[in-house]
Amino acid sequence: MSEELTIGLKCRLCGKLYPKTEALNFCTEDFGPLEVIYDYDAIGRVLDRRAIQSRPRNMWRYRELLPIDGEPTVGLHVGGTPLIRADRLARALGVAELYIKNDAVNHPTLSFKDRVVGVALSKAVELGYRTVGCASTGNLAGSVAANAAAAGLEAYVLIPDNLEAGKILGASIYGAKVIAVKGNYDHVNRLCSQIAFKFGWGFVNVNLRPFYAEGSKTMGFEIAEDLGWRLPDHVVAPMAGGSLIGKIHKAFGEFARLGIVDGPIATKMFGAQATGCNPISHMVKSDALKVRPVREPRTIAKSLAIGDPADGYFASKLIRDTGGWSEDVDDDAIVAAMKLLGETEGIFAETAGGVTLAVAQKLIAQGKIDRDGSTVICITGNGLKTAEALHGKLAAPAVIRPSLAEFEALIGAGAEAGELVAARA
Ligand SMILES: *Cc1c(COP(=O)(O)O)cnc(C)c1O
Ligand SMILES: [Zn+2]
Repeated sequence: MSEELTIGLKCRLCGKLYPKTEALNFCTEDFGPLEVIYDYDAIGRVLDRRAIQSRPRNMWRYRELLPIDGEPTVGLHVGGTPLIRADRLARALGVAELYIKNDAVNHPTLSFKDRVVGVALSKAVELGYRTVGCASTGNLAGSVAANAAAAGLEAYVLIPDNLEAGKILGASIYGAKVIAVKGNYDHVNRLCSQIAFKFGWGFVNVNLRPFYAEGSKTMGFEIAEDLGWRLPDHVVAPMAGGSLIGKIHKAFGEFARLGIVDGPIATKMFGAQATGCNPISHMVKSDALKVRPVREPRTIAKSLAIGDPADGYFASKLIRDTGGWSEDVDDDAIVAAMKLLGETEGIFAETAGGVTLAVAQKLIAQGKIDRDGSTVICITGNGLKTAEALHGKLAAPAVIRPSLAEFEALIGAGAEAGELVAARA
């Protein structure tokens, strides 16, 4: 890969340029976030549909649009997750054309975070870091730990001290140093900024954040490609820090700019949050100009529980600019949606997936999402990691002795079994 494709970093507020060799996430003039900029003319000379289709089905098939100068070295099998036409769920929701982008089965750690981590750690290796880390709400911890292990990097992952057992297990197994901080994500994040600065380590979502964030674009590239080089009318995405939703839209914009899909982009972006931590959806709904941080997040969707979202302002602006909207849902709605997704499509999403689907339902009911358009719902994490959310919420298995008579008594007696027999008759 040639080095000229990535130009550098640029402040999203004042436009000041920074070299791409710098691990820095904010502008030294105004603390604005930095974003990677590319030479799209140069990229357009090498990247088209055919080039993409000739490559393996993982996120690196779009590598010219990722901020790596050499060959990627970390996360080589990330991405290429299914885009599923969800007709049974569509019927339940009363919409015509519905898709699930299923990152609950992303490799290697079953969440979309492997995309951002693959890019951030490939960049970390390029920049010469041997020790990496992250501030995590759960999924990032597991992804950094696993991908760092496979790359032979030392990893420190810091998490709030109230995370689900599956998220902690899913980080500890890889031998990373897992540190639980007494506090919420915002406390963890502040501490990580201090550590990254003091020790000179590469924290994927702190000093490596501009590179990290670009990895989320690959979810958008894959959606467009799997729709047959077409953009959907609506995308519903979960929001924690508010980065993913913007990067999906940026991906559509880059494909349109390169002529890989037809522009202009008309996709409306819809953002999903939990009511117990809704700084971005609150901002959209109240037409506010600034994020009002949520001091004490209280929701079972812990992976989305960022009270002071770094990209909240930009996410809110994007949602309004594209004609989309944002909503939030309570814990009961989250669990109900997790069950609905399981029962209609056979997909077991984590709580964040429940948030996204429940918000989609709400927006359809409100008429904000048009029932005749095409809609993509982004499922970003796996339900096996948030088992606590379902404790006491699912029917326990019926227990019988190994006897046909007992089985017949069981299905004959239950209402469900009656339906079964009726359906078969
Ligand atoms: C991190 C995360 C998100 C949101 O990511 P942001 O880019 O911070 O908005 C969504 N879903 C899951 C499961 C996550 O872990
Ligand atoms: Zn600036």
